This record gives sequence, C-alpha cells and structure tokens, in this order.
Amino acid sequence: MQHQPNIVIVGGGAGGMEIATKLGHKVGRKGKARVTLVDCADSHVWKPLLHEVATGALDVGIDALDYRSHAAAHGYHFQQGAMTDIDRQARQIVLAPLFNDKGMELLPARRIDFDYLVIAIGSIANDFHIPGVREHCEFLDSTAEALAIRKRLLNKFMRYARQEKLDERIKIAVVGAGATGVEMSAEMHHAVAQLQGFGYQITPEMLEVTLIEADSRILPKVEKPQISESVTRELLALGINVMTDTRITKVDTKGLTTSDGTEIPADMVIWSTGIKAPDFLQQIGGLETNRINQIVVQQNMQTTLDPHIFAIGDCAACPQPDGSFVPPRGQSARQMALMTADNIILMLKGQAPKHEYLYKDLGSLVNLSRFHTVGNLMSFIGGGVLVEGKIARFVYTSLYRRHLIELHGVVKGTLLMLAKGIGRIIHPHMKLH
Ligand SMILES: Cc1cc2nc3c(=O)[nH]c(=O)nc-3n(C[C@H](O)[C@H](O)[C@H](O)COP(=O)(O)OP(=O)(O)OC[C@H]3O[C@@H](n4cnc5c(N)ncnc54)[C@H](O)[C@@H]3O)c2cc1C
Repeated sequence: MQHQPNIVIVGGGAGGMEIATKLGHKVGRKGKARVTLVDCADSHVWKPLLHEVATGALDVGIDALDYRSHAAAHGYHFQQGAMTDIDRQARQIVLAPLFNDKGMELLPARRIDFDYLVIAIGSIANDFHIPGVREHCEFLDSTAEALAIRKRLLNKFMRYARQEKLDERIKIAVVGAGATGVEMSAEMHHAVAQLQGFGYQITPEMLEVTLIEADSRILPKVEKPQISESVTRELLALGINVMTDTRITKVDTKGLTTSDGTEIPADMVIWSTGIKAPDFLQQIGGLETNRINQIVVQQNMQTTLDPHIFAIGDCAACPQPDGSFVPPRGQSARQMALMTADNIILMLKGQAPKHEYLYKDLGSLVNLSRFHTVGNLMSFIGGGVLVEGKIARFVYTSLYRRHLIELHGVVKGTLLMLAKGIGRIIHPHMKLH
C-alpha cells in the first residue's frame, strides 16, 4: 500500500488554524495526505480578541471554536498536547503528557510521525529578563491567561459591588503601548462603564489606568505619528495616564520602578512589551533560531536547516528582500499559512515549493473599545490612508470576519458572524462569571 504522507501542524492559532483548514480541504478530504493539527488547548480563540476576553467583553463560551468538531468537518485530525521536542532523525514530534485540572494524567507523553511539519506556536510577551516581571505581571499570551486577568479584575471590582463607596482607586499599570497595551487600557474603561449597569458602585474615575511606554510616543511601530497623537488624545480624554520615555527596571508586589528610580504603585500590572517565541525553540530539533527564539526560515517558509519543516506566524523569522523581517501580526500569520499550504501541496506533487512570502502591509488599526477606532490602511502605497471612526471600525472587524470565513466558508462564516452579533444583543454585554 502507498504511504500516505503525514502533515503535522503544531499550533492552532491565527496561522495554524487556516493552514490546517486549507490542507484539510485540499488534500485531507481527498485522502492525498493525513493532516493533523496539534494544540495544547482544546479550543481556538483568535488571539487579537484576547484583550476583550480579559475584560469580559467577549465570552469564550460563545466565541471559542472546538478543535475536534472543526477537524471532523474539515478533513483533518486533531491531537491535544504541548509539543516539547522534535526528533528530526525519527521524523517525529514529542508531546508532553496531558493532565486534567486536578493533575490527573489523561494522556501519556506521545510521539507523532511527520513527513511535513509546520510549526505555528506563536509568541509570548518579552520580559527582557527584567526582575519581577514573570512573578508579578499578568500576560495576554493565551486564553487561559486572559481569563485569569478577567477573574482578577472582577474580584477587584467585586469590592465595589457593596452598596457603599470606597475611597481608594484601583491602580492598573499597562506596560508597553503597542496596539495590545493601548487596546487593553481602553477596554478596561469600557468594562467599568458596563459594570456600573450591573450594580457595581464603580465609576471610571475610580479606575486609575497608567499606560507606560519606553519609546518617545505610544504605538511606536505605527508609521504615522498622527495616529499616536490621535490615540493619545482619546486615551487622555478617557482619564488614562500616558507615560512615554519611561523604562521599567523592576516589578514587585507594590508596583513598578523606573530607570530613574521613580516608583509607580500598581494593584495589577499587565505586561505587553514586544514579543519573543517560546524559549524551548532554542533547544529543539537543532533548527536555526534568532535572538528572540524565532525559527529562521527562507521566504518560502521552509526552515533553513530542514526543507520538510516549515515555520509560520509569530514564531518564524522570515526575511524580506530589503533586509527586514516580517512583523508578528495576525494578517502576516494568515497570509503565510495560506501560502505555505500551496507550497506543501506542490511538494506532495514532487515539485519545488516556489511561492515566496512578500509582506504587504495592509495597514494597522487600533480599536479603543467602543470609544474610537483609528489607523492607517494600505501602508504599502505612499504611506497609506489615514482612517478613523465607523469606516476604521468596519475594516478592523473585517479581519476577524475574514478569519471566520477562511475557517467555515462564506455561508457558515457569515451566519456565525450574524449569530455572534445576535448573541451580543441577547446576552449581557459583559461576561461576569
Ligand atoms: C491582545 C492582542 C491583540 C492583537 N491585535 C492584533 C490586531 O489587531 N491585528 C493584528 O494583525 N495582530 C494582532 N495581534 C497579534 C496577533 O494576534 C498575532 O500576530 C497572531 O495571533 C500570530 O498568529 P500565530 O498563528 O503565529 O500564533 P497564535 O495565534 O498565537 O497561535 C499559536 C497557537 O499555538 C498554540 N501553542 C503554543 N505553544 C504550543 C506548544 N508547545 N504545543 C502545541 N501548541 C502550542 C497556542 O495554544 C495557540 O493556539 C494581537 C495580539 C494580542 C495578544
């Protein structure tokens, strides 16, 4: 019997889900290859929505997509587990044992054969080895972490559910004013406004959010300074403290210390300063990695040292003709995923993986919760077009619509968007438990 090639995709995020779905349709359903998706979680939540999960604006019960049922409907298989190693000699990946909430082993450590491997395990916040960050900060790297932030925020706000006023303010520091930090800060103000409606004796004035950035402006990676200025104005109008040119050197139980020794008290610190790929990538499979642990790939997404292993999305360092590297974005993860699927299909036919990834910056939009959306579109032509308000909000949400359509097809994807819209009208605007 002819060997059916095994295509294994590790990481079912923005990129991994799209490549698994495309390969499931194109080769899995037709029996041309066995496509297997591996993820440490059991369901997919699109990462750019995690700040909404953290503030309760998004209910994972409604928005999470179960990997197993999606796999069954789209021609691929699913295995739950965290990849810990790659055995390139044996052409196998190694998965850690899987435990339940009570620490009981559900599945032992396992090995999965591959002929083609796609690594799409994303990134985590970079703590730059600053003392106290890992121990005392909250991160927005996974659904579990976003849910933990929500729990801690609600517990803090719970004190204000008593029908009496408290004098002290809730001090929250957000370190890193990229899109994630900026959106998270605005989303917290929206959460407070929502909680007022649920009987919490809390007003936006009781919440003291401080957004801290080492660069001279917020959103330093966004090309147009006008966008930073416009967003700064909106944040200040919401009562958010914005501190630029401020470098954090230490975090402890009381809060933050800056490079000039200033102490910033904080009840909770959310850390969102840049990314790195998970540390263990430095040690597995002998693949080439860069200083932030990303796996170095060629422009066709093949890793430099093994043509049957690909890396895509945030965990990949993909060079561009001008010497730069592709930025870690939802849009690039998606485009790399769809292109890599085409390259693997070519290799299955015995041809060379000829498609090369050229990053086209379609623009960046920042959504300040329900307050404002602003950004730059089509940055690849003459610096792009500045947009804000309803048009910007429509384009911002269309990235998620596109992701849903890619995963479910046009009809089901559109129906799902409608159902989620209706769900938001029927259910409370905030997840409270
Ligand atoms: C709050 C927030 C807002 C953002 N907003 C935007 C935005 O507006 N626009 C934009 O373009 N980008 C945005 N981003 C960035 C965007 O989310 C990422 O660039 C994108 O998700 C990267 O996709 P990926 O497939 O590489 O990784 P991810 O989407 O992070 O997926 C990685 C997957 O791998 C799994 N995994 C991790 N480790 C293992 C392991 N060892 N074994 C098995 N599975 C593993 C994880 O469970 C996860 O499912 C935002 C990010 C955050 C945190």
